[in-house]
Formats: sequence, C-alpha cells, structure tokens
Amino acid sequence: MIQLTRLKSKLAEVCDLKGAASVLGWDQQTYMPPGGASARAEQLATLEKLSHEMFISAEMGELLEGAAAEVSGLAFDSDEASLVRVTRRDYDKARKIPAALVAEIARTTSLGMEVWVKAKAESNFVEFQPILEKIYQLHRALANCLGFEERIYDALLDQYEPGMKTSDLEKIFANLKAQLVPMVHTISEKLTNVDDSILHRQYDGQKQWDFGIEVLKRFGYDFEKGRQDKSVHPFTTSFSIHDVRITTRVEEDFLPSALFGTLHEGGHALYDQGISQDLERTPLGAGASLGIHESQSRLWENLVGKSLGFWKFFYPRLQSTFPESLAPVSLQAFYQAINRVQPSLIRIEADEVTYNLHIMIRFELEVDLLEEKLAMADLPAAWNTKMKEYLGIVPPKDAEGVLQDVHWSNGLIGYFPTYSLGNLISVQLFEKAKAENRDIPGQMERGNFSGLLEWLRTHVHYHGRKFLPVELVERATGSHLRVEPYINYLKSKYWEIY
Ligand code: ZN
Repeated sequence: MIQLTRLKSKLAEVCDLKGAASVLGWDQQTYMPPGGASARAEQLATLEKLSHEMFISAEMGELLEGAAAEVSGLAFDSDEASLVRVTRRDYDKARKIPAALVAEIARTTSLGMEVWVKAKAESNFVEFQPILEKIYQLHRALANCLGFEERIYDALLDQYEPGMKTSDLEKIFANLKAQLVPMVHTISEKLTNVDDSILHRQYDGQKQWDFGIEVLKRFGYDFEKGRQDKSVHPFTTSFSIHDVRITTRVEEDFLPSALFGTLHEGGHALYDQGISQDLERTPLGAGASLGIHESQSRLWENLVGKSLGFWKFFYPRLQSTFPESLAPVSLQAFYQAINRVQPSLIRIEADEVTYNLHIMIRFELEVDLLEEKLAMADLPAAWNTKMKEYLGIVPPKDAEGVLQDVHWSNGLIGYFPTYSLGNLISVQLFEKAKAENRDIPGQMERGNFSGLLEWLRTHVHYHGRKFLPVELVERATGSHLRVEPYINYLKSKYWEIY
C-alpha cells in the first residue's frame, strides 16, 4: 500500500495546516486583543490558501488514483477504503470551485458581515439588501459549479449535510409543520401555566462556571484533552482528537445561558474527543456532518440536560450552590421553568417545541431566494408572514426578524436545516441507546452517564466522517431518518408539563 501511505502523509500535512488555522481562530474569539484583527485575517487567509492548494494539487489526485486501486478489495467500512472514498468526494468537490469564485465569496461575505452588523443595529434591511443579493448571486454560481441533479439548493445543502436533498427536507418539514403548528397553538393558550422568573434571579458567575465544569466531568468530557474558555458566541473547536476546546458565555441574571450553553458545546466536544485514534490527521477525523454534530449537542443539552432524571441528581447540588435563589423552589417548578414553551421572535432563545419552526422559515425562504421565486426586496414581508402563520407573532422590527442571524451575511446558505436534522436525529439515537442499554435512565438519575456515552462512542463518535449521515443513522439505529420519534418525544414531555 505504498500509494495509500504516501496519500496519508500528504493528507496529514493538510490536516496540520487546518489544525493550525483552527488554533488561530480559537485565539481570535477568546484572547486576541482587538488590534490583532487585521494581521490575524491575513494569517488565516494564508493558511487557508496553502491547505487548499495542497489538497487540490495534481499530485494528490494521482495518489488518490493509486490508493483507490490498492484498497479496491477492502471492506466498505474499513479505515482505508473509507479514507479513499471520502477524500475522493472532498477532492472532486474542491476541484470544481474556481479559486476566483472562492476569493470573491470570501471578500463579499467578510464585507457582508460588516454591513449586516450595522444594518441590524439600525434595524434597516434596505441597507443590507444589495450585499445580500450579491451573496445569493455568488452562491447560485457556486451551486452551478458544484453541480446538482434536482434542485439548485441541493448543491449548497450537500456541503453541510452530504447526501441530503431539498426534496427530502421538504417532506420532513411538511410533516413537522403539520404536527408542530397545532401543538404551539394549543400551548400558546396555556402559557401562564409555567413561570420561569426564577431563572432571572441573581446567579454568581464563578459558581455557574464551576457547576458547568462539574457536569462536563460527569458527562465524560476529558479536561486532559480539552479546556473551556469564555467567548461572546459559544463554540467548539478541535485541533486534534486530543485537543478539543469549548467556550461558554455567563450571564449573572439568566441561569440557562451558561448552563445549557456549556452542556450543548460539551455534547459537540464529546463527539470530537470520541473519534477513533486511527483517524487522527486524516480527513475522517471529524464529525460526519453538521446535522450529526448537532444531534450530539442537542442530545446532551436537551434530552439529558432538560430531563427530570438528570435534575433529580443535579438539582440538590444546584440548590446548595445557589441557596438564596433556589432553596425555596421545588424540583418540579425548576424542571418546568427550564422547559417553558413560549413562541418568541429570536431563534437562539427558542424552546424545543418552537425551535424547528424558526428553522423551517429560514429553509423555505432560502430555497425561494435561491430559485428566484422570491425577490430580495420582498424578503422582510415574507419573513413576517411566515412568523405569523407558524408562531402567531410578528416582529416589530427587522432586527428582531429577518436581520437577527449572522448566517446569511457570512454566506452560510443551506446551513440552517442541519439544526433541525440534529434535533430529529438526537431523539432517534437516544431512544435506540436506551433500548439497547436499559440502565441508562437509572444511571442518569445517579449522575452517571457512562452507559450513554459508551453507546454513542461505539455507534457514532468512533466512526468520524467514515459514513454519510444517512448511512450513520441507519447503522446506529437500524432505521432511516424519521420525524415521528421526535414528535412523540415532544408530545409525551410537553403534554405532561402543559
Ligand atoms: Zn451546536
């Protein structure tokens, strides 16, 4: 396997460059002083250019050809065959995009971010409209370079969720919509049943931080191979399977921000720390897709972290950490407060029941804009119409509506649906894990997550990017992606609360 060995050493160098860029990116969002911004942008662009050139080189193409012949007899799920198959897909894709288009998109979106920040601050969509139009034009060009069989949106979606089609998503969302909209309307009539004002009491920042660390340790996050820092927007980043870092944000007058942010990023990090050691320094040493990654964060944040079982163990600890705020509050009242449903304007503050409706709005608008069925000038009105229809509320200004998310300004078109896919997949995986290991719920009530983590390690984490998301879900759960388990989960949980 001479060619495969040479391929692996070339790919390892590409991974090293990307890992180095990630370290710079992590520093940029945590400790870098503001003055470092422009030099850092140049450093990142240079590393990006080098790793891209190295990856799409003719030599890499030849090594891939040679390695493909060497691994042709090996099993589909072997590390070697998977490495060649997945790298080939990445390589073909990367070669299709002209360097000039990449540069133009990078320039436009970095300007787009600036324009968006200002337009959002002034709640002025008209200011953002021309650059957003340009961003969509460039992404139409990008989609045409990448190619697609059915719909132009497929090409962009495939970058984040390989193998997923627009028509698949339309079916999933139609099903979700039919069930969620009536559910939200029913709960909307009973909003006063649940009060979450206790979450807005005073919570010392350092104590919140320490509590989060304790939970992460119990989950199985390895601090010998990771660390937590503070950032404005929480994120997870990985430079190696042995160095996976998370960040969080602490608000002293709102407990859920740091608590659930930490559990969410911890879920992402457990995934990256659990990838097989054999996939280190290869393109397989990462998560299968954004949707699968989000399934892990949402699983630990919501299915574990917002469950009654979890809090049977942790609530007495939280009470003794914050006796002034929580001593008089019962477990049941706390559980209800953290699971309060409230149709709201802002996606990132949305609860489990309404969250997917926010995503659906973005998905439908992205498809219509990309297919030129919706004019950019009509976007705010279309947004508000859908908010009214799905959530029963209309934003008073665009800053709380169409301008709220950073994604489009950054060129992330086709990205939003992965959040919903993550929610659906999280429930399928969690149900399967509990079916195969019946000790999991009891362990959780004792603050022990080893059974759950071990199941996820074996069926999801270990495989890295070897399989397409659909293949991974099928192999782990024995079933294709399904909406029903998620709806059943919501119904059984929320009809009991409301
Ligand atoms: Zn996430």
